Amino acid sequence: MKIPESHPRYQSLMTREKIVEGIKAGIVAPEGLIAHGRGEAFDYIMGERSNEFALKAERVAVALMLISKHPVISVNGNAAILAAKELAELGEVIDAPLEVNIFHFKPERVEKIKNHLTQYTDNVLAACDAELEGLESARRIVDSRGIYIADTVLVPLEDGDRCEILKKHGKKVISIDLNPLSRTSLMADISIVDNITRAIPNMIEFAKEMGKMDESELRKIVESYDNRAILSEAIKEICKYLTKKAEEVL
Ligand code: ATP
Ligand code: MG
Repeated sequence: MKIPESHPRYQSLMTREKIVEGIKAGIVAPEGLIAHGRGEAFDYIMGERSNEFALKAERVAVALMLISKHPVISVNGNAAILAAKELAELGEVIDAPLEVNIFHFKPERVEKIKNHLTQYTDNVLAACDAELEGLESARRIVDSRGIYIADTVLVPLEDGDRCEILKKHGKKVISIDLNPLSRTSLMADISIVDNITRAIPNMIEFAKEMGKMDESELRKIVESYDNRAILSEAIKEICKYLTKKAEEVL
């Protein structure tokens, strides 16, 4: 479908098109459409911008990844189709591999996501040769060189159950999820309430700037962070945004 650039919802429609193309290419699962719709709705009621609480969380997330021994970026179908190039660049600047990890598991889909990512980086793991105990879904299947040994995992668009298991396995979890009320957001150590299409480019900029800092400085940034306060700010932003809209409509 051809969408004119002048369309007021151009960006959103283009993103939808990408997801649909992702379905056709066998990269996105049909359930990915539903997840995307939920994400969009939350984006709409927060002004479709990277709010202050998101920028703060993104900066601290980068600091944590920079001081981690084995940071890993988990990538599912939606994340791959929306931000493959940017995820690859982030992986390079913070020295973290991308690992294909999907909820609706099919070896062919893992392969397709892997091939899509390798257009942009060679640092992609998808061996599916280890298991995280305590998880029934296919997301328990991980790479022995990646999430299995990771101390910090960046999980864009993640499901709550898996977030919980990663935490039980002692890993620090950084989520990217537009819903500040999701179990994932509530459970993560750092909850980035932002669209993945904006969050990753922001994180690349932070990483370039913070790569020069020494470890003690980065550690201080991580230690002074309060994720509950960030989540609370995100929820309040929805109220504030909607109150403003309610007044404007009169
Ligand atoms: P949970 O299991 O954590 O309670 P859920 O069951 O509501 O969450 P899932 O389908 O498991 O939702 O996960 C998808 C999540 O990804 C949703 O919460 C949605 O808000 C979020 N999401 C979808 N698209 C984007 C996007 N482009 N950027 C950021 N977040 C997104
Ligand atoms: Mg869920």
